[in-house]
Amino acid sequence: MTSKIDKHLWVKILFGLVIGIGVGLALSPQAGAVLEPELTETLAAWIELPGLIFLGILKMVVVPLVICSIVVGIADSGALGFVKTIGSRIVVYFIITSSVAILIGMSLTYAIQPGDVISQEFVDQALANQAQEGAPVVLDDLTIPKRIANIIPTNPALAQLEKNMLQIVIISLFIGLALLTLPKASGQPVLSLCQSGQSITMRIIEWAMIIAPYAVFGLMAKAVIDLGFDAVSSVFMYTVTVMAGLAFMIVVYAMIAKWVGGVSIAAFFKGIREAQIIAFSSSSSAATIPVSLKCAQEGLKIPKSVSGFTIPLGATINMDGTALYQAVAAIFLTQVFGVDLSLGEMALLLLTTVGASIGTPGIPGIGIVVLATILAGIGVPAEGIALILGVDRILDMCRTTVNVTGDITASVVMNRFVKT
Ligand code: ASP
Repeated sequence: MTSKIDKHLWVKILFGLVIGIGVGLALSPQAGAVLEPELTETLAAWIELPGLIFLGILKMVVVPLVICSIVVGIADSGALGFVKTIGSRIVVYFIITSSVAILIGMSLTYAIQPGDVISQEFVDQALANQAQEGAPVVLDDLTIPKRIANIIPTNPALAQLEKNMLQIVIISLFIGLALLTLPKASGQPVLSLCQSGQSITMRIIEWAMIIAPYAVFGLMAKAVIDLGFDAVSSVFMYTVTVMAGLAFMIVVYAMIAKWVGGVSIAAFFKGIREAQIIAFSSSSSAATIPVSLKCAQEGLKIPKSVSGFTIPLGATINMDGTALYQAVAAIFLTQVFGVDLSLGEMALLLLTTVGASIGTPGIPGIGIVVLATILAGIGVPAEGIALILGVDRILDMCRTTVNVTGDITASVVMNRFVKT
């Protein structure tokens, strides 16, 4: 019965995606639509409404869901040894997959050399516009050591108010671990609260999924209306390089799921497709956490003790798609500006990008902001970001899909590891 409903929903979501793209193209001034721009804007805002409501519900439940999932996940595991094993293995796994993603990005960019085919006129124009508009947005305290030092939540209430996912994950880890080490009777009230919180939030997500097809339709139509097609043509080879790298990474995940996790490729994609589409249309891996958890637990049958812990952690500290994109963007800009990287600088780029992906929140468009810090480390002018800003929206959608696929793959792998 359930699978019948899920199958139906999946087709509807895909339908929403395709029709959303079609309507977006029909209304997009850049694609030649004839409506008045003001009218298009008003129409686009209404079309996007179901998407905003859907994302609003996901964001509404994501903080309690993450806290409850991690606490219950750790408590369900039943032993400190289990958490230690999975915790240490997953961090190593994240570092390895991020490094693989970055190396794929770097190799492709050196092979394709997208920076060599860009027109000088476009570069001058983009830099001139940038100079007029002022410096690119950079987060205030973005030095990597500071970001790492800031992860301990000195004010847990503020962390929740600000929806600082990394800090929320850390608080939940502490609570879960403390529960595991306490006598059962002292921890039971909090554990029961979290179990019931998890059931309540998952029920709300089931309701939200009913409007997912309309949400995806609205988000896609709005995204296509806003897309700058001119921008894509100016940096076409760069866009192709990022997309090729991201597609390659998805293949890598499917292989990992098959060979390491023992899940067939067909079952893997079938289990995760809803999360992938929601990630693609929302550009936010944090907002997709509820759907990723649902896919992992129901689609791939990963127990809560594994998925409840690995997915929120992955969505917070593991961003392979973003890391790959940042590596391509950085090397692309070195090619545009004629900066030669030594082997040491390349190693530095790899290290800073892995470090940055730990502290980067899973929200739309943040990857390009963090890129500014990475560029500073290898002597590339941050103004170069102006060249790739126009295509960031579409690349953000693609890299978020990879980020979310990576998180679910991690839970498949961890599930296998803890079984053996
Ligand atoms: N939007 C991405 C995510 O949520 C982060 C990024 O901008 O790369 O995963």
